[in-house]
Amino acid sequence: MRIILFGPPGVGKGTQAKILSNDLKIVHIASGDILRAAIANGTELGKKAKTFMDRGELVPDEVVIGIIQDRLKEKDAANGFILDGFPRTLPQAEALDKVFAKAGIKVDRVVSMEVDKEVLLKRLTARRVCRKCGAIYNLSADKIENSKCPKCGGELYQRDDDKEETILRRFEVYQNQTRPVKGYYAGKKLLVEVDGIGEIRDVTDRLSRALRQ
Ligand code: AMP
Repeated sequence: MRIILFGPPGVGKGTQAKILSNDLKIVHIASGDILRAAIANGTELGKKAKTFMDRGELVPDEVVIGIIQDRLKEKDAANGFILDGFPRTLPQAEALDKVFAKAGIKVDRVVSMEVDKEVLLKRLTARRVCRKCGAIYNLSADKIENSKCPKCGGELYQRDDDKEETILRRFEVYQNQTRPVKGYYAGKKLLVEVDGIGEIRDVTDRLSRALRQ
């Protein structure tokens, strides 16, 4: 199955994509994770991306499209995938269509997760990520002790772009550049909307139902 998980920052795409990837046995491809790994590795790409990410802006299309194109060519994506955080602009969506057309494949579903802005802001400022295993936590919902990951003991950190000022900029960017992508997929009759509020497992159930529709 080939899925695009869509939605504003903090809606829970990363958390849900990890679960669905495990349940459906398809690879989870997150553009943000790939960019953060490039930053951590100190690559040229990482250095370039960081300047945009720290400001809450989008990394230029040609950079991100190239990365995703390469990632989709890897063997583990042949059985299907769940794309998280890509496409985020209309040119990215159009570029993805071209890649798929060339490979003779199609997207099965685009699922858009919906949550109010106030809830998103609260979630994002409370978000912590494990530096070692990438698990995502919420300080007010999860039992966290000593800033250590309950799964692997790794150090938990706050993403640089999860500071309030940057979050507000990311919302703006989402509204202006990313939201139109929803209409693009609605026009292709691929879009399903899912309420992203509630317990993690309840949201996963809603997403699974939407994928079976
Ligand atoms: P995320 O982890 O999906 O919230 O992405 C974190 C940041 O990485 C975004 O705020 C952007 O700066 C950058 N980024 C991730 N995916 C994309 C994309 N598809 N296009 C442009 N920038 C992206």
